[in-house]
Amino acid sequence: MHELTVSPWASLAYLVAGVCFILALRGLSSPASSQRGNRFGIIGMTIAVVTTLVTHVPVRMNGCPLGIGRCAILDRPVVDWLTVIEILAAIGLGAAIGLVTARRIAMTAMPQLVAAFHSLVGLAAVLVGVAAYLNPQAFGISDLVVPMIGQPFAVIHPVSRIELGLGVAIGAITFSGSVIAFLKLNGNMGGKPIMLPGRHVINLALLAGILGLIAYFVTEQAPWVFWTIAILSFVIGFLLIVPIGGADMPVVVSMLNSYSGWAAAAMGFTLHNSAMIITGALVGSSGAILSYIMCRAMNRSFISVIAGGFGAVADTSGGGTAIDRPWKRGSAEDAAFLMSQAEQVIIVPGYGMAVAQAQHVLREMGDKLKAEGVRVKYAIHPVAGRMPGHMNVLLAEANVPYDDVFELEDINSEFAQTDVAFVIGANDVTNPAAKTDKTSPIYGMPVLDVEKAKTVLFIKRSMGGVGYAGVDNDLFYRDNTMMLLADAKKMVEDIVKALD
Ligand code: NDP
Repeated sequence: MHELTVSPWASLAYLVAGVCFILALRGLSSPASSQRGNRFGIIGMTIAVVTTLVTHVPVRMNGCPLGIGRCAILDRPVVDWLTVIEILAAIGLGAAIGLVTARRIAMTAMPQLVAAFHSLVGLAAVLVGVAAYLNPQAFGISDLVVPMIGQPFAVIHPVSRIELGLGVAIGAITFSGSVIAFLKLNGNMGGKPIMLPGRHVINLALLAGILGLIAYFVTEQAPWVFWTIAILSFVIGFLLIVPIGGADMPVVVSMLNSYSGWAAAAMGFTLHNSAMIITGALVGSSGAILSYIMCRAMNRSFISVIAGGFGAVADTSGGGTAIDRPWKRGSAEDAAFLMSQAEQVIIVPGYGMAVAQAQHVLREMGDKLKAEGVRVKYAIHPVAGRMPGHMNVLLAEANVPYDDVFELEDINSEFAQTDVAFVIGANDVTNPAAKTDKTSPIYGMPVLDVEKAKTVLFIKRSMGGVGYAGVDNDLFYRDNTMMLLADAKKMVEDIVKALD
């Protein structure tokens, strides 16, 4: 039977865990304090897990061995060691899988890993909801009614039905939405938006259906109501994410993060666990704030993205590449010469730098240029790479001084007075089509004005490759652009040699 009365010590421990989580979020807001933030997160989670385990030690009644009537001496609660071992084994297995995955995962695959983890949170919320629905007495969310005729049955409290309905719905949306996000980020589905005909009408009808069924569930706890809520929510999660493409995926990842938090918070009510409610609400609200900030940075409407690409334009720009247009090719020696003669060089890192793991040698190149009297700055676009803060993390790992790193709005006006813009594996975040081509899927997204620099050096592997949004970049064919075609790390190593 679930323990409903929470000891004051447990409440205090959960409060301390909650404070640790708030300090963790505070720390994670800057690369300089992120390690401290992570430590607070680890401490908070350890306190929460240990408190939950200690206050929910599984017990069973040590019944009379002969099974005849009540046995005064033996009929007392004893620790159910088998269940304890099962729980510890599950924690050990989960921890081992998490440890191996975190150690092996490439930095470039982090966004899909995060999407996969979100899907697990959603699935866990659905499974807890299903368990609570099937056995409400064990969760302490029902009253047992013993009729004159027939079997006793559990009547779930009306408030718990709302919590269950919402938790299962948000969990299911998080699960199916995150699976689609995973497939898109992992390259199993294309980055371009898939526009289903009549999707807004279908989505609105599904949403109204889910909300109506949750309201009906309060009066009728029949299985068909519960399972229909779950199924419709799985479907709408899929439909909401499928039409979102290219440049809007970062917002989707943080939005799903937010949903996973709300799903956990709703299940915290079902499980009467205040740590889950606090943590879920923190994740939910911080994810929502991050989504909002990213929407503003990308010049996107928050509502449009939540509603599944509402107002998104179909890409009629042709996409792909136009390799038959003339373009200029340069060598590492050309690049080294141009940069060593410059007064100011702005380095623009993108996803390709992460793929090539070129950040260390890039910092070495920056140091050499500085030693020659060149002013070197790094310009970070809010969605460069494949996860929020991706470039900041990589540059911090390579010990690039924070003072040399600038956000888009702080540095964009400087390109016009800069001799060389050095674009390393960035593409969409520099594409001028975002400013001029209304048919482009990235139209409206603020981009780094690299084309305004006297010379643009652009590292990528081939003229055929496109960025995440799948559109050609007019920058490659401009008079002031020199293409440096090679793997980013190899090219920068050669530039460093040439500088020597
Ligand atoms: P892009 O994906 O637009 O471009 C990457 C570039 O790197 C391509 O030109 C590619 O060309 C090149 N490249 C890849 N590998 C290498 C390599 N080993 N060496 C040299 N070049 C390489 O990256 P951006 O950072 O400019 O833009 C990010 C995009 O991802 C945006 O559209 C954004 O919306 C999206 N996104 C961002 C997320 C986030 O949270 N930051 C999450 C999900 C999506 P080639 O193949 O020819 O080498």
